[in-house]
Amino acid sequence: MIPTWVQLAYLAAAVCFILALKGLSSPRTARRGNQLGAAAAVGATVVVFFEADLDHLWLIIAAIAVGAVLGVVGAQRVQMTQMPQLVALFNGVGGGAAALVALIELEELTPFADVVPTFTFVATVFTIFVGAVSFAGSMITFAKLQELITTRPVIFPGLPVAFGGAFVAAIAIAVVAVVSPQLWPGVLLAVLGLVVGALLVLPVGGADVPIVISLLNAFTGLTVAAGGYVLDNTLLLVAGTLVGAAGTLLTKLMASAMGRSLVNILFGALRGGSTLGAGEASDRPVRSAGPQDVAIMLAYAHKVIIVPGYGLAVAQAQHSLRELVEVLDERGIEVDYAIHPVAGRMPGHMNVLLAEAQVPYEKLVEMDGINSDFKHADVVLVVGANDVVNPAAKTTPGAPIYGMPILNAGDAQQVIFMKRSMRPGFAGIENELLFDPKTTLLFGDAKDTMGKLLSAVKAL
Ligand code: NDP
Repeated sequence: MIPTWVQLAYLAAAVCFILALKGLSSPRTARRGNQLGAAAAVGATVVVFFEADLDHLWLIIAAIAVGAVLGVVGAQRVQMTQMPQLVALFNGVGGGAAALVALIELEELTPFADVVPTFTFVATVFTIFVGAVSFAGSMITFAKLQELITTRPVIFPGLPVAFGGAFVAAIAIAVVAVVSPQLWPGVLLAVLGLVVGALLVLPVGGADVPIVISLLNAFTGLTVAAGGYVLDNTLLLVAGTLVGAAGTLLTKLMASAMGRSLVNILFGALRGGSTLGAGEASDRPVRSAGPQDVAIMLAYAHKVIIVPGYGLAVAQAQHSLRELVEVLDERGIEVDYAIHPVAGRMPGHMNVLLAEAQVPYEKLVEMDGINSDFKHADVVLVVGANDVVNPAAKTTPGAPIYGMPILNAGDAQQVIFMKRSMRPGFAGIENELLFDPKTTLLFGDAKDTMGKLLSAVKAL
């Protein structure tokens, strides 16, 4: 019987997790939400030390210390643009840990197979399999995003057969493990889970990998929830369910923001359509200008819309951009930031980046709110963005981004692109807007050119 104070502590932690999620839904409250969730997780972990009669106490403390040091150092060192791979790594170890715990439980429950309810074994084998899928899948996504392996879809003849075979074999072994609980089918199931996880993610192209991370995150949530059932721990059950639900919703939102179905994201490459294009730099002629000319275009506009993208984050030009907008504001020019839901490399990337640079949240306008304003804008300044304004999403069936809603930058009087070269965006396809007569390119690293542009506007 779990003591009442422990149940109350778990209830408090569960409420904090829900409030934390609520906090994370707005940039204003996200930091507090994050701290609340982390504090609740620490509190719940401490409770276990007082409640349970733990063996190997020092081993557990040592493991927590190693994990805490690696987690803190890793999270402090990571660049904002590398956040998706960090999430993949953390998610993977979560799934892997749940699978290992379930394997140990399977062995411990085996002698009592006659009295333990069958559903407990079902939950245990589910945790082992899905946890292993999540671990292997997350490690492959990490390797892809870190470019340790190719970011292109990896496909080979027989992949669908291997995937289907491993999946069917896993179901058969899972039945064996439930009917006749023993360690060996559990271990075999974990190995098959690793194979299924790897084969699931290998055919996914780099641009779609963040969505798969979100999907695997949902898997880990379900694994932890099932683990909570096995271990008779309500808090794990609640926390896992929250992660599972949040991950599923996020996956759905990201997929629809990119105009893709989940089936197409996971299995599109197997049907022959690559999810990542060729990525060649174009040699078609474009109109380019220097910072002084662009400064004049901006300084004499009435309405300017900024479209931030991945390159802004890479260049870390967000602070100079904020300063530029302040200078334009002082000149009485109406300036807004147009935020595409998948600009950058993770959901909310631009919101986080611009909040970090102290850009007032009111200035960030979501795609649906600003798309009809582009036609009234004198100038659109596209800073390190490409795919999110690429008209191919509307005009070119077969393009990897076809169907993705885009920002209507092309509706403005003039469009300025700040980028380093004629290389395409993440989807690897040419952007016709770059060659439009109303478009001007300001070449260079965004941080460097933004500094020059700022000085030029100030000097006018
Ligand atoms: P893109 O990757 O399409 O374009 C980035 C642009 O930035 C490129 O044109 C690049 O050109 C330029 N750039 C890169 N580094 C610099 C630099 N240092 N200075 C100046 N420019 C630079 O980014 P978008 O934000 O437009 O689109 C995001 C893409 O990521 C979409 O395809 C989206 O589907 C995908 N994606 C996003 C997810 C999310 O959750 N946010 C999730 C999954 C995928 P050049 O090299 O010439 O400088």
